[in-house]
Amino acid sequence: MDFKEKIRVIEDFPQPGIRFKDITTLLKDGKAFRAAIDEMAEQLKDKEVDLIVGPEARGFVVGTPLAYALGVGFIPVRKAGKLPAETVETAYSLEYGKDKLAIHKDAIQPGQRVLIVDDLLATGGTVNATLNLVRQLKAEVAGAAFVIELTYLNGREKLPDLDIFTLVQY
Ligand code: AMP
Repeated sequence: MDFKEKIRVIEDFPQPGIRFKDITTLLKDGKAFRAAIDEMAEQLKDKEVDLIVGPEARGFVVGTPLAYALGVGFIPVRKAGKLPAETVETAYSLEYGKDKLAIHKDAIQPGQRVLIVDDLLATGGTVNATLNLVRQLKAEVAGAAFVIELTYLNGREKLPDLDIFTLVQY
């Protein structure tokens, strides 16, 4: 399936110069959404992960169905101040803006194999912050998976030690 055809590109959102890749048009197409998750699950099934870790909000939308398909647990990473139990935190910068991410301290047992999942790899700031969090919890990192990769932002080059899978590239 041509997944790119299902992804809408919005120019200058949320600010001038950003070409926003809108996956809502993929998500509302049931066949395409299922095909995208199934394809990712097929490509990632041999990684033998224990958990998928996904940053809010679109990391939940991609990460939870993928966790279901792989039969593994899902761990949410949220903006600081949102998770109810004890957390560890890390600061990070985005393609646009800055923020702080958090994960529950007891979400991962030391040595558990995790796969980080988000909708899109841009500069790599979000996945790097998520890596920082799971490493604080002494997880073993199996890799990271995204629906979309913006290759022109070279996020992959900043993460040479990370095994990265992406479904479509721009
Ligand atoms: P980064 O941390 O720079 O890799 O950015 C990744 C995060 O920001 C992802 O969670 C995306 O949802 C969002 N994002 C960054 N750039 C874009 C873009 N051009 N289109 C859509 N989402 C984006």
